[in-house]
Amino acid sequence: MAIGNHRNASLVVDRKAIYHNIHEAKKRLKDNTDLFMVLKANGYGFGATEVAKVAKKAGASGFCVAILDEALELRRTGFDDPILVLGISRIQDVPLIVKEHVSVTVSSVEWLKNAESVLQDNHISNKLLVHIGLDTGMGRIGFQTPDELSKAIHFMNAHDNIEFEGIFTHFATADSKDDHYFKVQFHRFQKLMQVVKHRPKYVHVSNSATSLWHAACNGNMIRLGASGYGLNPSGRELTPPYHLDSAISLVSEIVYTKKVKKGRSIGYGATYTADCDQWIGTVPIGYADGYSRSLGGFYVLVNGQRCPIVGRICMDQFMIRLPEDVQPGTKVTLIGQDSNQKITLQDIADYCHTINYEVTCDFSRRLPIHYIN
Ligand SMILES: *Cc1c(COP(=O)(O)O)cnc(C)c1O
Repeated sequence: MAIGNHRNASLVVDRKAIYHNIHEAKKRLKDNTDLFMVLKANGYGFGATEVAKVAKKAGASGFCVAILDEALELRRTGFDDPILVLGISRIQDVPLIVKEHVSVTVSSVEWLKNAESVLQDNHISNKLLVHIGLDTGMGRIGFQTPDELSKAIHFMNAHDNIEFEGIFTHFATADSKDDHYFKVQFHRFQKLMQVVKHRPKYVHVSNSATSLWHAACNGNMIRLGASGYGLNPSGRELTPPYHLDSAISLVSEIVYTKKVKKGRSIGYGATYTADCDQWIGTVPIGYADGYSRSLGGFYVLVNGQRCPIVGRICMDQFMIRLPEDVQPGTKVTLIGQDSNQKITLQDIADYCHTINYEVTCDFSRRLPIHYIN
């Protein structure tokens, strides 16, 4: 996809804010606890490479990604730090995984056996680095029973080409006020861990929410995603123990204005009709950029004032009602601060009935990212 370096629209990512968020998380950890920054989905839309650099400066000692290609991208951009793939990798990629020194998540004995055969068939002597996933109630991936878990550990111990590097679980409700289900999951985790006689290098259970509100459970590594980017993983439900600094804004410019007569309509479906003569401005961002079509009726900021979005959001443009005529080139803030007005990611998420994570992940690579600070 072409990156829009020649367009009047960009994401602005504040490195200092990300540094602050990760550094605060790191400060709260015990000395022997590592922080792995989660960089899946191009760093939640903030740009994996730049965030990786900032994360290292702020104290991260490794990274987590969702798919192998995201790990390879980091290797290609020069990072030789530990990288854990959190999803299940393909057996045929095992040689590449070992070559690139990437750690994988394993959820079944069968996967281990198949991977071991591939190592043998390809005469690979370097070790496959394995983190065992435990399903304690997320219901996604991971071992559920002590029996299966001991078989996996036994198999790894019996094979020199496999290193049992880590073990982890993932909580479904760590971002909720009600901690009942969290406790159920933690109890199951502790029970499963009784099977593990020799603890591997990394024992990790914490995503952002767990590290923020259940820090006692951390283990010796945390997988920090959302809060590193300044996103409150609970939305508005829980207050973080330290300030999360918002790290992203979305800005554009008015590219065209016109006076519209009473009775004229705007946009696809002609859903908006001017009830009086009025000034209409065009903003060159649309749903193909990840500015959701459900934001019709929401507002943006121009000269410190809220301007309503009129008509439907198009693929690449949308229209707003202006209080008066403005010059083309006038700044439009879609997310961020303008004078004493502010639109947060959470405001957008609420309006779209989704979570702040989805809003940033949806930003298209067509939007250039400008890094500041
Ligand atoms: C995405 C993910 C994380 C990071 O979660 P945040 O809520 O963004 O901190 C941690 N662990 C696993 C297994 C994940 O899939």
